[in-house]
This record gives sequence, C-alpha cells and structure tokens, in this order.
Amino acid sequence: MRYDRRQEAQRAQVVSWVVCGLLVAILAAILHLLYHREYADASIPNDCFAVAATAESALPKQVCLTFDDGPSSNTQPLLDILAREKVPATFFVCAQEINREYLPLVRTIVQQGHQVAMHSASHRYATIYRSTDAFWQDIKVLRQTLQPYLNLEDLTWLRFPGGSTNTISHRYGGSSIMRELKAQTEEKGWHWIDWNVCGEDATASHPDADRILRNIQEDAQGLSTCVVLLHDTKATDQTVKALPAIVEWFRSQGYTFCTVAQLAQLQSSGE
Ligand SMILES: [Zn+2]
Repeated sequence: MRYDRRQEAQRAQVVSWVVCGLLVAILAAILHLLYHREYADASIPNDCFAVAATAESALPKQVCLTFDDGPSSNTQPLLDILAREKVPATFFVCAQEINREYLPLVRTIVQQGHQVAMHSASHRYATIYRSTDAFWQDIKVLRQTLQPYLNLEDLTWLRFPGGSTNTISHRYGGSSIMRELKAQTEEKGWHWIDWNVCGEDATASHPDADRILRNIQEDAQGLSTCVVLLHDTKATDQTVKALPAIVEWFRSQGYTFCTVAQLAQLQSSGE
C-alpha cells in the first residue's frame, strides 16, 4: 500500500514536469511569433522571410555583401571599410525623404567598383504593393531620382522590399502580386534577387555588432554561395561596426567577394 502511494506520487511528479515543459514550450512559441510579428510590421522591414534565388554550384565559394535601404549617414563609413578591405558590394537603394541628401553618394559607390541596384523610392508597402502599376510607378520615381548620378542602363537589378516571397504585399495587392511583379521584371529584361544569409541588423531588437556577425555565421553554414542581407540606414551603425569582422570571417572561410551582377555572370559562365 505504501509502495503504491510512493509510485503514485512519482507518477504525479513526472506528469507535472511534462505539463510544465509543455507550458514553457508553448510560451516560447508564442513569444517567438510575437517577436517576428513586431519586426514584420516595422517601417524598416527585417526582410528575412525570403530565400535567395541563387543555386548551389560547383563554383568556388562566393559571397555578395548587399546593403539595403540607403544611402544614409552610415554609407560613407561602410565605403571606407570596403575600400580598405578591397571588397566589392551591392547597394539596393531608396529615394525616401530621409535619404535624399545622401543620394549623390551613389556616384561614389559606382566609382569605387560597387554595384548600385533598385530597391524602392518610398519603401511604403501599402503604396508600392497596392498594384503592379503602383509598384512600377515607384520604381520610375526611383530611377528618375538617381538619373543625375549614374547611367540608368546599368540599373538592371532589383530587390523587392520584403523579398520576393513576402506576404505583406498580399494585404494590399492580392495573393498573386509578387508572382506578377517577378514576371514583369524579367519581361523588362531586368533581374531580381533575394538573399540566403541575413544579418538581421535592422530588426526591432537592434542587435549589436557581435550578434550581427553571429547571425551571419549561423546562416552561412554549409553554403558555397552567400548573398548577405545587411542595411545602410542611419539606424544601422552596428552594421558599420560589424563589417570588418564580417569581411575577415568570410575570408577565413575561403570565400571571395563579388557584386550581385558579377555573381550572376560567374554562375552563367559556369553552367
Ligand atoms: Zn528594404
């Protein structure tokens, strides 16, 4: 009888541990979802819910560093580091009110051997994803704004705000809008690209330089071609701080650096 009671007590203890474990797991899942909701709706999107359009290949290890949403006060410091390290990068630029005064920097970006590519003029999801026409109108404004500083014919690469598989656009332009925009980009003879490595440097949690590096190292595990998403807004000064270590780490792993256009060329010549 005493033995039964002890066994029962042990069983009750095991059950309570299992219940506690389940509750903790459910709580963690809810917190995780809330966290991602928060930055999915932030004005600077995390952009991390998409995947890269690049395929694995037998080519040597390549990495494209890409900077979205600039130029800004952080662009020149990034350019200085890239020049010192002799590393090319790609800048997917905006033409918002907030970064207008830095737009002449796109000329410097090109002169220093980097690639300038299209992102969005306004970067307002509710406006640009209202319809395909609204999207291309925004891109037209972006190109017109950039015209004084570079040759528009070189501006043939595009990264969709939120990535090509974002679902935020569905709220405004319906569930097929991204599919239509991707097809129309190709009809124009242009190209689009997402990313497969994310620094998560523009999230609401404002990660420090060490965290940004670790995010990249985790995502890059096992990839021979990395397209790294970073940002050059006025809020991403930790990205500037992280850049030397990011470059050093990719070098130590045997990667060589190239722009997005150079990567596409390498991949097509390697086929
Ligand atoms: Zn963006």
